[in-house]
Formats: sequence, C-alpha cells, structure tokens
Amino acid sequence: MAIMNFELDPALEAFRQEVRAAIDADLTLELKAGMQAYAGSQAEPDDALTWMRILNKRGWSVPHWPIEYGGTGWSAMQLYIFNEECCNAWAPDTCWGETQMCGPVIYTFGSDYLKEKFLPAFRRGDYYLAQGFSEPGNGSDLARLRTAARREGNIYIVNGQKIWTSSAYASKWGFFLVRTDPNVKSQAGISFLMIKLDTPGITIRRIPQLNGEADLCEVFLDNVVVPAENLIGEEGKGWTYAKFLLDHERTTSSFIFFNKRELARAKMIAQNEAQDGEPLIRNPHFRSRLLRIEAELTALEWSVLRELSHEDFKYDATAAASTLKIAGSRLQQSINELQMDMLGAKAMRAFPFDPADREDAPLWPGYAETATSRALVMRAATIYGGTLQIQKGIIAKLAFDL
Ligand SMILES: Cc1cc2nc3c(=O)[nH]c(=O)nc-3n(C[C@H](O)[C@H](O)[C@H](O)COP(=O)(O)OP(=O)(O)OC[C@H]3O[C@@H](n4cnc5c(N)ncnc54)[C@H](O)[C@@H]3O)c2cc1C
Repeated sequence: MAIMNFELDPALEAFRQEVRAAIDADLTLELKAGMQAYAGSQAEPDDALTWMRILNKRGWSVPHWPIEYGGTGWSAMQLYIFNEECCNAWAPDTCWGETQMCGPVIYTFGSDYLKEKFLPAFRRGDYYLAQGFSEPGNGSDLARLRTAARREGNIYIVNGQKIWTSSAYASKWGFFLVRTDPNVKSQAGISFLMIKLDTPGITIRRIPQLNGEADLCEVFLDNVVVPAENLIGEEGKGWTYAKFLLDHERTTSSFIFFNKRELARAKMIAQNEAQDGEPLIRNPHFRSRLLRIEAELTALEWSVLRELSHEDFKYDATAAASTLKIAGSRLQQSINELQMDMLGAKAMRAFPFDPADREDAPLWPGYAETATSRALVMRAATIYGGTLQIQKGIIAKLAFDL
C-alpha cells in the first residue's frame, strides 16, 4: 500500500524560507496595513500596481509566465508556495487582469506587435487593466453579447455597452469581447480587442455598491475608433480565447490562501468573543462549524495540489476549474458567515469603507472592523467569473456528459 507523505520536500521548504525573507524585506508597512484595513475583495488598484513594481525588481511579478516573457521557471509547487507566502504576509494581490487573464491570452494567441506593446508593461505594473466582457442582459449568456465592432480598413468602430467592469475607472486599457460578425453562429462572430480607455467616445460611470465601494463600472462605447492591430489573434476566434482566459480566472478563484487567512481570523474571533462567559471556541455549535470548514478547506487544498501535480488527473480541465471555483467561493461565504454569527451584535455595525473615515474603529476589536463590508462583498464570490449555477452546468456537461 502506498504511504502518503504530507511533509514538504526540504528543497521546497528552503524555497519557502527564501521567499518569506524576501517578502519580509520588500513589503512596506503601508501596503500591509492597507490590506489589513481594506474591506473590499481585492487590493486597491494603486496598491496592486505598487506591489507589482516591487516584485518586478526581483523578477517575480509574473512568476508563472513563460521565462521568455519574464516568468521565473518555478515549478507549480514553488508558485503555490510563493502565492501562499504573499497572502500570509498581507501583500496586495498582483493585477489579475494583466497577470492571470489578458497576459496569458496575449502570449498564447497575440501578434508580436501586441506581445511587445503589452507584456513588458503588464510585467512592470505600468498601469491597470479592465475586463470588458459582461453586458446588460448578457452576463451568463455571454455568447450573445451585442457590443459591435465594424471593420473599416485598418480600424474598428466600436459601439455598445459593458457593465460590471471592475476598476475600469482606474484602468488605462481594457480587454474587450466584441461582435465583429452578426451573420454567423453567436460564438463564431466574437473577437477580442484591446481598447485604450481614454479613447474619444468612451464614457465610464462608477456603480455605488452596498458596502460603500464603487469599484464596478458601466462602460459606454460610442463610435470608438480602435486600430485593427489591437485585435488579439484572429477575428471570430474571441470566444475560444475567452474560454481559455476564464479557465485561468476560475482556477485562481479557489482562493485557498485567502480562505486559510480568513479561517485563522474566525478562530481568533472564537477565542476572543464569549457567550455567558465562555469563549466561543468551547461552544459546540461554533466549534463544529469551524471544524467542518477546516476539513472542507483542507480537502480543497489537496484537490488543488493534486491538480497541480497532474497525478491521476483524468477529468476535463474546464470542469475541474469550475469545481474549484464553486468550492472556493462557497467557502469564502461560509467562513465569512461564521465570522458574522460569532461577532453577533458587533457585526451589526457597518464601518465606512475608507479606513480614514473610521473614527471610532479603535474602540472595536480589529477583527470586527471589516467583517460586515466583507460579508456584502462575498455575496459576489458566487457570481463573478461565472455564476455558481453556470459552473454546475459546465460540470454536468463536460464531466458527466449530461
Ligand atoms: C463583483 C463583481 C465583479 C465583476 N467584474 C466583472 C468584470 O471585471 N468584467 C466583466 O466583464 N464582468 C464582471 N462581472 C460580471 C459577472 O461576470 C456577471 O455578473 C456574471 O457572469 C453573471 O451575469 P449577470 O449578472 O448578467 O447575471 P445573469 O446571467 O442574468 O444571471 C442571473 C441569475 O440567473 C442564473 N442563470 C443564468 N443563466 C442560467 C442557466 N443557463 N442555468 C442556470 N442558471 C442560470 C444565474 O446563475 C444567476 O443566478 C462582475 C460581477 C461582480 C458581481
């Protein structure tokens, strides 16, 4: 019988120590404190860019990319350890649009012109990037998107509207799905365009959110002129590139490290909050909820590690990405719900989103300050990147042939 060894290889353990020391030296107190006080789901765009620039000095800003485009050549396990250490140290996320989504699409399908124009800028953290996919009425049903790009010589003229475009107000460029051919099957008429967001004809409107944030935007495109050289890959192949991108987005959406960090915060609450003089950690109800979540999180972590090692991996990669997305996003919500339940009345208070406006926050335990805002943000974890129901549909079709 094979014996499972849960110990980390000594070389990987040494790698972990090296990464930990480097992050310790490079991560500024401002960035760390900003993340600890932040009540949104991801880092503020400016903080993400600052961290990208710091990492780039070590050649670590896009470690998972191929070496020729600035990657490190690290193994999947080394990347996993690097990401875990960054999260544990409260480093900001790197810019997902660039590093996880658009960058891989450009180096896999883009022209030499686009590779030279964008990849070094993404790697250096020169600017933020927005994802222009969803439209009013065409979120889950993305293949029916209506934003039209008409080719005229060496330009496209783009008209339409996008919605829920994260951080568009703070972004210089966006990667957009547009309809270049209305006369073919929905998926076959879609193309993938890079559009500069200060181009005349673009209007960006921020959408106020329940937690006081206004990160999501509407993007209106009115006769926007885009050079045809900004087309990624071939016209009409945008749907294929988008599926490639969404698999990347969903695999990283398992949020293991974030969930481990939030579970640790839940344990801290359980140790410090009490009911009838008894710490909640001794209360059988909360104790069993903590343990159940910990078991689910451990199972998810080992599933991800198994996928990384590609051992025994015989399922469709898209279905696997959807499974990880479901498990990770549900855990985000259940950990947060547990935190809220344990905080009781202390969770009734919604602090202002901006830490500078939280005047009386020091009177409250630090762990209560951002819980309510995070609870509101976490509702979206089973929506963005493709909803829970859509992921279940993908699994049914691809893994079980239903
Ligand atoms: C915080 C946040 C950030 C986002 N960031 C971006 C971004 O940066 N760029 C971008 O392009 N988009 C972004 N989105 C949009 C996101 O991708 C869409 O909201 C999502 O795909 C769902 O689309 P929809 O909102 O149109 O809902 P709908 O598609 O209208 O869905 C409504 C409900 O119907 C269900 N449903 C729909 N179709 C089916 C079906 N076939 N089977 C079963 N159930 C179904 C859905 O699961 C959902 O519960 C973001 C969303 C959020 C909440």
